[in-house]
Amino acid sequence: MDIKRNYKYLLSDLTALKGVGIKTTNLLKKKKINNIFDLLWKLPKSYTDRSLSSKIKDLKIDEVQTITVIPQKYSFPRVRNLPNRVLCKDETGEIDCVFFNSYEGYIKKILPVGKEVTISGKIKYFRNKYQLTNPKYVSEDSSIIKQKHNSYSLTEGISEKVYNKIIFQIIDNLPKIEEWHSKDILRKFDNISWNESIKKLHNPENIGKFKENFYQRLAFDEIFSTFLVNSEIRKKIKRIKKTKKEFSVKNQNKIISELDFSLTKDQSKTLDEINKDLSSENKMFRLLQGDVGSGKTIVSLLSAFNTINSGFQVAVMAPTEILARQHFLLAKKIFPKNIRVELLSGKSSYKDKKVILDRLLKKQIDIVFGTHALFQKKVEFKKLGLIIIDEQHKFGVSQRKKLSDKAGKDCDVLLMTATPIPRTLTMTIYGDMDLSIIREKPNIRKPIKTYSKLENKIEDVIKFVKKEIKLGNQIFWVCPLIEESKKIDHTSAVKKSKYLEKLFPKQVYLLHGKTTADEKEIILNKFLQNDFKILVSTTIIEVGIDFPNANVIIIENANKFGLSQLHQLRGRVGRGNKESSCILMFKSNLSDNAKKRINILKDSNDGFRISEEDMRLRGFGDILGFKQSGIKNFRLADPVHNHNLFILAEKEIKRIENEKENISKFKPLIKLYDRADIINDIA
Ligand code: ADP
Ligand code: MG
Repeated sequence: MDIKRNYKYLLSDLTALKGVGIKTTNLLKKKKINNIFDLLWKLPKSYTDRSLSSKIKDLKIDEVQTITVIPQKYSFPRVRNLPNRVLCKDETGEIDCVFFNSYEGYIKKILPVGKEVTISGKIKYFRNKYQLTNPKYVSEDSSIIKQKHNSYSLTEGISEKVYNKIIFQIIDNLPKIEEWHSKDILRKFDNISWNESIKKLHNPENIGKFKENFYQRLAFDEIFSTFLVNSEIRKKIKRIKKTKKEFSVKNQNKIISELDFSLTKDQSKTLDEINKDLSSENKMFRLLQGDVGSGKTIVSLLSAFNTINSGFQVAVMAPTEILARQHFLLAKKIFPKNIRVELLSGKSSYKDKKVILDRLLKKQIDIVFGTHALFQKKVEFKKLGLIIIDEQHKFGVSQRKKLSDKAGKDCDVLLMTATPIPRTLTMTIYGDMDLSIIREKPNIRKPIKTYSKLENKIEDVIKFVKKEIKLGNQIFWVCPLIEESKKIDHTSAVKKSKYLEKLFPKQVYLLHGKTTADEKEIILNKFLQNDFKILVSTTIIEVGIDFPNANVIIIENANKFGLSQLHQLRGRVGRGNKESSCILMFKSNLSDNAKKRINILKDSNDGFRISEEDMRLRGFGDILGFKQSGIKNFRLADPVHNHNLFILAEKEIKRIENEKENISKFKPLIKLYDRADIINDIA
């Protein structure tokens, strides 16, 4: 084998290891351990100390101990159910090694008569004699046995001994790796190298020492490599030169002055950021993050307007038809009449669609709204200058990269999400984009009052609903969402809607998992037009749609949701200028922790703050949208516990970007850690 191995050794197949064959490889692959590097992150859970040896006369029964003995005599009875035995001695006494189901040849090999061997295992006492059954730790080389042996949560079919052997084979052969971090960074971790850190990570005495330099350094490597990949993608996109968009903000300001509200400070700031990108010669790839109801739509439409004014076309993609239509109608309302606005609906007739496609290609349409159907191949633009994607939190990094690659060279990209997430996650998930945040919400809005109610107080809730309906208001009623059983979800929602239907005849509609997209749209449209009063649903009600007349949301079994999710649900109401309320219903009295969580929700309407608290209380895995976001699971790093490492990584990335540092020295880091292989052509 090549002695001057470098980091590539760590990326080699498991079969490169001694004693690892196809069988073991396949077992490990089932656990997503595909190469040597992957093995390094399977950490010991506990260890058995076999380092101290004892004499036979001092053995303690029922404890794991290590002794050095000389085998004396074999006894192989060759009778079914009778074990094979080897009598062993040291100068202080005797012990029987007992073997069930082991071949004589094997026993003779590991315990040769007359040769000193070290054995370790749990000692029993049976018929006046010490006994060790099926000893697994046996060697003529006592140093192999006299160690701390790690236990791992093992893959079935691989013994602990074999596993230890594999891991320590890797640890002993760690290739020489050039330090990739700057001196300043390294100093923060007491200058510990990657190799040293890995060794410490597998030292059984360090189990659980998350705060120590070796662990912190390795967690930092992981965060940093993710950020570095993000930064590279961002730089790559920026390097693409485009035709500057030239427009006068005078026209834009005219539209603003005609709105029936004035923009918030954050809206104006964000609009400026986008405008600057549009008129620069670098391609824009920007995320607009803002809580529900923060007013992202108007900002995006204004930037669309500027793009159109500079002679380009715009495509706006929404997650649902109904939302696409809402945006389309708003654009028609606020844009001057000379701007040609179109909606490409899945429902339009073939002929109508064809006409639209044709006009897009001839640049007879300036802006088109639609769902993901907008990105089919046959939809072609003559001069597309901006793509706006609303509520896109379901895209992962690689999907976004594809999107940006697909958009023509002159085409800017603006993504919008209404899922506020903690800062550490934003950097991790969206670090490949430039970021604008709308934090402050329009202040015309009356705060949503949030209440909690026990389920047996449903009479009170009904009374309240009656009162609201009398005032002409509409109600969302969310039924328990129990992921384990769609069937139960369904029946409970059906039952609830029947119950409500009795109380409010002809005023109740139900949306559930089995409602087809078409039916759903019809129902939502009816609700929007105030044709009925109560919308019962099992699934989360479509993000982003404005139901200005709905001002009450009732959420049953509210403890099934995380804080961020409850906040999102609550955001469905309070979008008009009415007093609105959110009633959280619970089956039983709340625990102290649950009360704490609910109080955060009652206290605050700041989605960013709520998501931070949510993450602190429940860990980052549960944050809304996390699973769909395509964020990779860190092996060691944790956005809650390693907050400072995320901040440090961000700072270091900024420094590297500012100083235009050559990143080729990070190649091994990226190659090792970037499992998605997003930038395979780096440096
Ligand atoms: P979101 O950020 O959730 O997409 P929208 O853009 O749908 O929010 O805006 C929600 C509502 O707030 C809309 O009815 C919109 O007209 C209104 N709105 C937006 N900006 C302002 C503002 N600055 N002042 C008052 N109302 C606003
Ligand atoms: Mg929106």
